[in-house]
Amino acid sequence: MRKCFFILLLAVTACTARGGWTAWEQTVIERSDSVMYVAVMPADSAILRAPSQDLQEAELQSAELQTLLAKMYRTLTDPSQDGVGIAAPQVGINRRIVLVMRYDKADKPIEPYLNIHIDSLWGQKTPGPEGCLSVPPYRGVVQRYPNVQISYLRPDGTPVTEKVGGYSAIIFQHECDHLDGILYTDRADTVYVNEAWAAERESFTYTTPDWWK
Ligand code: ZN
Repeated sequence: MRKCFFILLLAVTACTARGGWTAWEQTVIERSDSVMYVAVMPADSAILRAPSQDLQEAELQSAELQTLLAKMYRTLTDPSQDGVGIAAPQVGINRRIVLVMRYDKADKPIEPYLNIHIDSLWGQKTPGPEGCLSVPPYRGVVQRYPNVQISYLRPDGTPVTEKVGGYSAIIFQHECDHLDGILYTDRADTVYVNEAWAAERESFTYTTPDWWK
């Protein structure tokens, strides 16, 4: 008696865009200038308040990711922004990507962190001043933990778990909040207009790109 083995092949055809990026994400990555438009409250609250997803293998391997990281770096270091950290939702991409200036390392390099998650926070919370590129021209005082343990992927895909302390730990908390749709103003004890920043912004032109609208 012959046994028949039926092998069922499930052909899963996903209607994914190139490299797994959505059409909107591709538009943002390709059409942004090297200094990207930064989402601001309240106009861009839909993007800033949305939770961000991990990158999948297709996106991690894509050329688009390298372009995005380069543009985020240029944006963060541009004189018009001059920040210490940036999260992907701030440039219109709801993915778990942040760039953070590492005050705990020599020469304070700005490094990219992919699929970043905070594992734990510890120590005595202390208040400190904070601002956000997406919430101009305000500043606030926020209570943050002095220590954080983070897990993430390096751009080459290497998984890392790391403990960070000091000011960089505060930046990681601020940037990872962005990935959960949380802004520092949600946590701040006080929020006030920063006159110097308001005046500084006057000297730059901020225009929402046509393709963003
Ligand atoms: Zn921010």
